[in-house]
Amino acid sequence: MNKWVRVNTCEGTVHVERCSDQELRWGGRNLIAKLLLREVPPTCDPIGRYNKLILSEGLLGDTILATAGRLSIGGKSPLTGGAKESSVGGEAGRKMARLGIKAIIFEDAPADLTPRVLFISKKECRLLEMPELARLAVSETFSRLQERFGDEAGLMCIGPAGEMRLSAAAVAVQGEDGAQVRLAGRGGLGAVLGAKGIKAIVFDDQEAKPAEVYDAKKMREVSRAFSRILLEDPKTENRHKFGTPAVLSLCNELGILPTRNFSSGRFERADDISGETIANLIETRGGEARRGLPCIRGCVIRCANVFADARGRKSVASIQYENIALLGANLNIGEIDEVAELNHLCNEAGIDAIEAGAAIGVAMEAGVLAFGDAEGAKDLLRQVSQGTPLGRIIGSGVTITGKVFGARRVPAVKGQAIPAYDPRALKGIGVTYVTSPMGADHTAGNALETAGAVDPLGTQGQVEVSRRLQLRAAVLDSLGLCLFVRPAFVKDPSLFGRMLHARYGWDLTFEDVQRIGLDVLETEREFNSRAGVSEDFFDVPEFMREEPLPPRNSVYDIPMKEMQGIWNVKPPKGVF
Ligand code: SF4
Repeated sequence: MNKWVRVNTCEGTVHVERCSDQELRWGGRNLIAKLLLREVPPTCDPIGRYNKLILSEGLLGDTILATAGRLSIGGKSPLTGGAKESSVGGEAGRKMARLGIKAIIFEDAPADLTPRVLFISKKECRLLEMPELARLAVSETFSRLQERFGDEAGLMCIGPAGEMRLSAAAVAVQGEDGAQVRLAGRGGLGAVLGAKGIKAIVFDDQEAKPAEVYDAKKMREVSRAFSRILLEDPKTENRHKFGTPAVLSLCNELGILPTRNFSSGRFERADDISGETIANLIETRGGEARRGLPCIRGCVIRCANVFADARGRKSVASIQYENIALLGANLNIGEIDEVAELNHLCNEAGIDAIEAGAAIGVAMEAGVLAFGDAEGAKDLLRQVSQGTPLGRIIGSGVTITGKVFGARRVPAVKGQAIPAYDPRALKGIGVTYVTSPMGADHTAGNALETAGAVDPLGTQGQVEVSRRLQLRAAVLDSLGLCLFVRPAFVKDPSLFGRMLHARYGWDLTFEDVQRIGLDVLETEREFNSRAGVSEDFFDVPEFMREEPLPPRNSVYDIPMKEMQGIWNVKPPKGVF
């Protein structure tokens, strides 16, 4: 991976460039942060010509390591107004890495938004006009692309929401088996791609060869050690069986499961939408239903699933915790089949289910429809795809929806919906929502894993917890590995250095690896500061400091000043 592809979407030109020695040391989220700061005016319009949409491979993206090949997608976010990176599974990232491409940078903006497709193979990189894809749902877009480019192509696209440049739009990536749809959901990056007039990207890696690594023997050794630790970890077994919904019962017990627009942390019907219920239904319904699947070839954790209806026909793949929480408990909907259908409609529109669920929750509280009205919620999501005025409001995310309906309880930080962990009863994640350059993002430093070790209701130690988790997330996002591999690095922190040595021959200490994470965060914070969205000014929403959250009846009470000091302390030695 020593080259990147620049696509000028105004001129319709595609150029391949060689990376400099310095640029070769950037990957994934780190590369996105560096390019944003170097090339994007921080105050630009996120859907204007000066923003860039960047696809970036992690440093280990082209290796045999488990979960390697996850793709980072980034740009200036239409929701937060700051730097954004969203990591996604699926096959496109692996194929892009096999083609030796480190990054693709979409620049400028076309005068005419006729859908175009970027096609990349070993022999060519070119833009094709495909007007027949206009306003097609994600699944139909993938079918048409498969018909034209074959079953082996790696596919990614936006749905109607992205074409309409709605702020909650996502970028969809097809999974390994063709059934999975993975979304780079957070931050509205689908709108940025839509503003470039790009409907889809197709990778044909048929003539590509695996990348040469510095020490293939050492890579095989470290890969085996890495997979072994992951397979021995009890969390892996749990994720394999129940997927990410495994944590729903725990979140309900802790009282952090968003319920009825974040008015409670416990949902009376949690059992009906839990990981155990889902696993059970997948077993008993059979047909197309599956669990324990990889979203990316080579993953040994395999937390993905295909959820099927009562007749065994796929309704959504995968069904995930955050989406169930926001489209289920948060809307007072306890029928898992309804939640699955809502999730599917989000995927079809190409919209972040977290942002959509939070926006509909606010609309329900404002009286637009009643809590528990699953048919009404489906209608709203169909309206997103149709582009009706109400659909466009929901598709613009929770903050816009809250403003339009004059709502006071709007669960967002820095313009982005708070995900499925209410910070009033898991305070460490609240520190992440406020201080992460990513805004309210569950992947930027999720404190759920520390709930057993640090009192989630207390204020002590939460800033330290968030700092550690944010650093580790920034490193993993820069390497191109899934966040769920963290137990391996907790058990053996030397793995980082060994992997990078085997791939590149670099000799890095653990502190050097920590510095990669610090560099990412510093670069993103600098961009955000210049964009006017630094962490100095965006607290959790007021209602979370004032309204006690049942059943723990706690408010968010970590002082802003304490959170603002998060980066004044050096990271601890030896561990994240
Ligand atoms: S652990 Fe789950 S989300 Fe991560 S790469 Fe594997 S299947 Fe995908």
